[in-house]
Amino acid sequence: MSEQKQTPRPTARHVVIVGAGMAGVQTAVALREQGFTGPVTLIGAEPHQPYDRPPLSKAVLLGTAEGSAFDIDFDSLGITLRLGVAVTGLRAADHEIDTEAGPVGYDTLVLATGARPLTLPGTEDVPGVHLLRTLDDAVRLGEVLARRHDVVVVGAGWIGAEFATAARAAGCAVTVVEAADRPLAGALPAEVTAPMVGWYAEHGAELRLSARVAGVEKGRVLLAEGAGNSGERAELPADAVVVGIGARPDTGWLVGSGIALDPGGAVTADDRLRASLPDVYAVGDCASFPSGRYGERLLVHHWDNALQGPRTVAADILGGAAEPYDPVPYFWSEQFGRFVQYAGHHAAADTLLWRGDPAEEAWTVLWLREEVPVAVLTVSRPRDLAQGRRLIERRTPVDPARAADPSVPLKAAVR
Ligand code: FAD
Repeated sequence: MSEQKQTPRPTARHVVIVGAGMAGVQTAVALREQGFTGPVTLIGAEPHQPYDRPPLSKAVLLGTAEGSAFDIDFDSLGITLRLGVAVTGLRAADHEIDTEAGPVGYDTLVLATGARPLTLPGTEDVPGVHLLRTLDDAVRLGEVLARRHDVVVVGAGWIGAEFATAARAAGCAVTVVEAADRPLAGALPAEVTAPMVGWYAEHGAELRLSARVAGVEKGRVLLAEGAGNSGERAELPADAVVVGIGARPDTGWLVGSGIALDPGGAVTADDRLRASLPDVYAVGDCASFPSGRYGERLLVHHWDNALQGPRTVAADILGGAAEPYDPVPYFWSEQFGRFVQYAGHHAAADTLLWRGDPAEEAWTVLWLREEVPVAVLTVSRPRDLAQGRRLIERRTPVDPARAADPSVPLKAAVR
């Protein structure tokens, strides 16, 4: 990818941000916080006031929160909002984007279009099949929960587990169907997911592993031959089906624009979150970036990345970010009465160390590379998360024996 230098800009230039989710909104806010006085336009395809997504699978779904709109006064910040407007193309040579409402010129463009959930092929038009990405999705699913429907969740990932938690709390019968032989197979090793299997049963949700969906018809889900824990062909009654099988960067509209995309569709950004064409940045779920810390390109689909990345983008627009974007990634999940948090990034070769008994309510797993923590996962041990995150950030080596003792604070396990 090109390493072009973008010269400092006078602040009267027009910054156009595409995507009014967390990353787009935070970019606009960070620009103002850092002193940018030029025009800022935030364009979003959804008609709603910009809102936060994590509550969608939690409080909004359960109806304990009305919505999750950001508490930001865009008018007083001088940010022009154009909502319900989808951007359809980029003509970088003209410094223009095309929208459903006509072209918009930019001096600096920020791509923040997030991610789009994967669908289960062939089920897109089947009634009762849902995704969970938008406020509209959450409102529709809230009605499903209120009617206490029989629900089948496809995918035992983060979203599937959170939805199952909410659906059980609402009194629905819940079956979770997972093609892999364990939950969160793409994110965590088998040793760590093993204790999580029991969380489903404990909350009255049936988890079917190694179970591949062969088809969905109105009112039922068909599993592939030999699928499921019983090894028999199964058919599951389902008033509603929720598909949570992952998401991909929402960048289809950039194909052919000249912007470099990874094979998975993420905008290939550099360490200041600049895209491959001049005056274009990319941030949040739609962009990958080179991690100096972990020595590989990262694509992070979590909230904290959509909060931190915009600060680098704003600083670079205002005259060049002094520091590269090189975060310790962080996320949390609330599932089955537990607060699960993860910071860092681990590889299969890293040493896995347990702190505490996974049969208990609270425990921690630490990943070490030559005695330096590179990642930490905590289940209802927030102090371990906070201390572990700092050790990871500072690359502080620990004594593995002390770090494995849950009665020793992690910060006291340093060498
Ligand atoms: P998005 O939030 O997806 O925003 C992108 C916006 O761009 C969207 O509004 C979209 O409509 C718009 N857009 C897309 N294409 C166009 C276009 N062509 N023209 C105009 N607008 C466009 N993370 C955690 O760390 N913890 C959690 O507990 C957690 N819970 C989550 C629960 C749910 C249900 C979901 C869906 C995500 C959750 N996340 C969580 C992830 C987190 O919300 C995302 O990482 C974050 O929202 C990413 O922000 P973003 O702005 O990059 O993308």
